[in-house]
Amino acid sequence: MEASENELDSPDRLQWDADEHSKWLTLALHLAKKSPPKPTNYCVGAVLISPSRKYPVLSTGYTLELPGNTHAEQCCFEKFAKSNGCDVEELHTVLPDDSTLYTTMEPCVKRLSGNKPCAQRILEAKNIKKVFVGVTEPEKFVNENNACKILGDSGIAYEHIPGMEKEILEVATAGHEKEQAEESDAAK
Ligand code: ZN
Repeated sequence: MEASENELDSPDRLQWDADEHSKWLTLALHLAKKSPPKPTNYCVGAVLISPSRKYPVLSTGYTLELPGNTHAEQCCFEKFAKSNGCDVEELHTVLPDDSTLYTTMEPCVKRLSGNKPCAQRILEAKNIKKVFVGVTEPEKFVNENNACKILGDSGIAYEHIPGMEKEILEVATAGHEKEQAEESDAAK
């Protein structure tokens, strides 16, 4: 039986997607490594792109890049707004309408500090149509991060890109007190 030609799910197309995702997530991870490790948060990196542009990167950010208790997505958005001469509240007026966010970790939906959660910032940015994450947030600081549902309900495509979880979590938790690892995997 011959499969009908469908560009969207051809192996070439899927491989192209995988390569693109890996490229941007790798950049986000590289940014996460610049974040100063702290016991009270995760070192996260974020990349905002416009895939239709010749030079797709709009902005980048990582946890604590900007002064204050700043998150990666927040830094990414604030830098883009500033470089376009507007306040972050006006971000949607300067964002291309195919904006796509890559972040090493699922955007937060609640912040213990009372700051605006990143999922909320993504919604307010309006033109972010897709969000790709490297890992979902471990339930350490805030239970039940349901960014997936919140963003999905607002029509934002949300996808977990598998394959880099181990390295992403190592970087994210670099400032956390390490629990004694079990010996079970140690034997070679
Ligand atoms: Zn956040």
